[in-house]
Amino acid sequence: MMTALLIALAIPMSSENLVKNADFSQKDATGKGALGYQSTGDAFWSWVGYTDEIVTAGFAFPAKAKASGSVSQMVTGIDQKEGKWIRFTFRGLPEQNFQVSGDQLFMKIDFYEKQGTEYVDSAERLIYREVEKDRKELAVNGNYGKDGAAIWRTYEFEELLPFPEVDSVKVSVGYKNGGGKSNAQICFFLDDFSVVQLQKSSTGLVDPAEGPKARNQTAVPTTEGLVSLGGRWYYQPAKTETLALNAAGRFEGTLRVTQANANRLFYRDDRLINPFAGNMTAWLRKGYLDESGYPVTKDTFVPDNVTLTFDGKAKVAVVRAKNIPNHPTAKFPDTYGTQGYNPSYIQVQKSVFFLPLEPVTNPRAIAMTARDENGALPMGSVGFAVNGVVFYNPFDAGMQDASSIMDRCCGHPSPDYRYHYHKYPICVNTPFVDKGERHSPVIGFAFDGLPVYGPYESNGVMAKDLTTNKLNAFNAHFDEVRGWHYHVTPGKFPYILGGYFGQVDRRNFRR
Ligand SMILES: [Zn+2]
Ligand SMILES: [Zn+2]
Repeated sequence: MMTALLIALAIPMSSENLVKNADFSQKDATGKGALGYQSTGDAFWSWVGYTDEIVTAGFAFPAKAKASGSVSQMVTGIDQKEGKWIRFTFRGLPEQNFQVSGDQLFMKIDFYEKQGTEYVDSAERLIYREVEKDRKELAVNGNYGKDGAAIWRTYEFEELLPFPEVDSVKVSVGYKNGGGKSNAQICFFLDDFSVVQLQKSSTGLVDPAEGPKARNQTAVPTTEGLVSLGGRWYYQPAKTETLALNAAGRFEGTLRVTQANANRLFYRDDRLINPFAGNMTAWLRKGYLDESGYPVTKDTFVPDNVTLTFDGKAKVAVVRAKNIPNHPTAKFPDTYGTQGYNPSYIQVQKSVFFLPLEPVTNPRAIAMTARDENGALPMGSVGFAVNGVVFYNPFDAGMQDASSIMDRCCGHPSPDYRYHYHKYPICVNTPFVDKGERHSPVIGFAFDGLPVYGPYESNGVMAKDLTTNKLNAFNAHFDEVRGWHYHVTPGKFPYILGGYFGQVDRRNFRR
């Protein structure tokens, strides 16, 4: 086993986030900026969102005419041994009328040596066209079927360390040529900076130094050296960790996965990803309700918002979820009217789901009819996103199509105070940012164990628009690499699932 494990080290595993004050919550000494960050021009430290939202601190780029500015942090402690790739990400929200001309919204990495004193190189990536692309393709996913691109999503930039001596990077997000709407209130909001080092690019970039062989890698990644947990699930044990394997090397014990080891849990499709990494914790925000139903008075960190316990014998993962969204939400109950005056709170839940690791299609499966008259998909939870928040069918009480009235992260609470999604939750961070340039990544799982993917089938083509290998009435289709899988379909019924195409563990129906 040991020799095999060494081979597996080539698989990308992300290190710790090296950014300090990553969520901008700590103020600097002036009280007007964020501790550890520098800003220029029109950029300013701000609460990022509206009064009807649960809002956190971040930075704002106002769109007033000719505006420009940036926010950056000098990140120290870079060590090439930890990985030659630098992955810089942040969460951003372009408000509907935010505009720049000349594509001038950018992410930048400056590389330094000698404890950050000597500048050696820099790299820049323009991201405004992603904003425009989302506006074109995801508008229908929004509240009342519009503005679905004015939503938090993650932007990313991966670069090779140019020299082994680099020990610091300055990461920036900036803009120029503010777009003529001379209204300072319309902004691009930013939050949650992250810099991690990777041994291998997570986006499939190839180090030119590795030569043509690396570029000819097979489409299906090797799982050699990983312990198979069943189906498409794999685990890379830490050096100090022993899994209960039988004589044939099969996993027969139980394994608990939390944020601490989420980067060792892999799901295999055309790549090996860590679907839950970075998604298993959350902040219980002031204004939500705790488990006992009391209002939360102070933001509280929840380290185990979702955990999975893999059972090797039963070939099932037991998912325990508190169901706290790990992204911004609207304020609930809604007294502003932007969420249809939804009277419910967001409350901590204690949910247990059973996820089959080796999903089996159900030959007798029936898709739901237009208003689910046949009851093919139950009300309530039908699956969960990789942050542990549940998916519902398209309807709320009274069989109203619920997809139109949702907050800016595409969710809202039910009458039993359970926050849920009825459609593509763009705010859910997936392991890979979805730029719509290839098949989307996994964003969650249905209770039949089949994966739910983002909207794209290939570059610029959404699965809902396919003319060959069309989605069936369940919103599922088959390919050799992924097997049967669901896609979310922005603006198109049934939005997430149209029924269970696979066999569901009946324990998920216990109430
Ligand atoms: Zn609902
Ligand atoms: Zn597909």
